[in-house]
Amino acid sequence: MTSDRPTGGQDQTQIALANALRDEIHDFCALQWPQEACGLLIAAIDTPNKIRRVVFARNVAEDPLTTFEIDPQTLIECHRTARHKGERVVGCFHSHPNGKALPSPTDRARADENGFLWLVIATEHNGAVDSRMYRIIHQHTDDANAENTELRYFRRCQIIED
Ligand SMILES: [Zn+2]
Repeated sequence: MTSDRPTGGQDQTQIALANALRDEIHDFCALQWPQEACGLLIAAIDTPNKIRRVVFARNVAEDPLTTFEIDPQTLIECHRTARHKGERVVGCFHSHPNGKALPSPTDRARADENGFLWLVIATEHNGAVDSRMYRIIHQHTDDANAENTELRYFRRCQIIED
């Protein structure tokens, strides 16, 4: 479909994200440029592929120009609130101030929750220019001789307006 397909290629999985929510995320990320912005994606427990709301977080990384770390306090509160409301934290979002919406090797290394959604927003000095949704897939091999039995890749998802 696109020429710059990430590792793993396209997925037919559709993730519903209302335009209004996407705009809010874009605005938030644009304001943080040239730093990386971050936050969480929340869905109802029975419709995990439909983003219901987003939570904006502080980037507490040591170097927010090149990486992100969601404020752990926000993370804890977010999980707690979601549990009470019959929701689940299904993913996260963060921005790439270099204008590229591809997940980095660092992102892949840090994507420890199998199936988690990763929304990457490309920002430039004049605002958000692109955003793409991915799902991290952990694939295990049974090969005992293999050096690394876990293969990880981001699979592109299709964002549909809902
Ligand atoms: Zn990243």
